[in-house]
Amino acid sequence: MQVGVLALQGDVREHIKALGECGVTSTAVKTKSEISAVDALVIPGGESTTISKLARSFGLIEVIREKIASGMPTFGTCAGMILLANKVEDGIVGQESFGGLDITVRRNAFGRQVDSFEIDLQFKGITDPKIHAVFIRAPWVETVASDVEVLASISDAAGKSHPVAVRQKNILATAFHPELTADNRVHKFFVENLCRESVK
Ligand code: GLN
Repeated sequence: MQVGVLALQGDVREHIKALGECGVTSTAVKTKSEISAVDALVIPGGESTTISKLARSFGLIEVIREKIASGMPTFGTCAGMILLANKVEDGIVGQESFGGLDITVRRNAFGRQVDSFEIDLQFKGITDPKIHAVFIRAPWVETVASDVEVLASISDAAGKSHPVAVRQKNILATAFHPELTADNRVHKFFVENLCRESVK
C-alpha cells in the first residue's frame, strides 16, 4: 500500500517519521500524479487556509476530494481535520475543504497561538496510558452526523464537551497533533484499522 503525506505546507516530516515507526513507508506528495498514485493519504497540521489555497492553485482539490469520496483511507491532524470537514466555521472567506467528513468544525476554537496547550486524553480504542495530546491553535468539532464516531472529547472553559478525534468510515481526524509526540498509537490506529480495512 502506497501511503502519501500531503506536502504543500505543515508538519509533513513528522508524519512520515511517525508512520515509519509504525512500519509504514510513506512519501511526501504534492502533484496530481503523485496523489493519484497513493492508496492512503495523511493531511498534516499547519495552516488550513494556506494548504487550501495551494491545493486550489495546483489543481489538487478535485483529485483529493474524489479519492476520499471513493473510500481512500485518510487521516488529518489539526489543519488536516479542518480540510476534511464538510463545514468550517470561522474559516476565511472562500476557504475550501476537501471534505468527506460529515462534521462542522470550528477553526481556532480554543483561542490564539498563546492558548495552545497539552493534555492527556482518553481515546476510544486505544487503552492505557491516555494519549498525550498537543493542541496548537486547534479546532474543535461542533456537530457530527449520526454515523461519525467520536473517539475523544475535551471540555471547554464552560464545561461543555467537544469532540477532538472522530472517525467516519475511511476518514480519521484529530484536532491535536499525534505526530508531534513520541507516542505513535494514533498513527498505528490509522494503519491497523482504516488502512488494513481498505485492503481486506
Ligand atoms: N489554526 C490552524 C488552521 O486553521 C490549524 C493549526 C494547526 O494545524 N496546528 O489551519
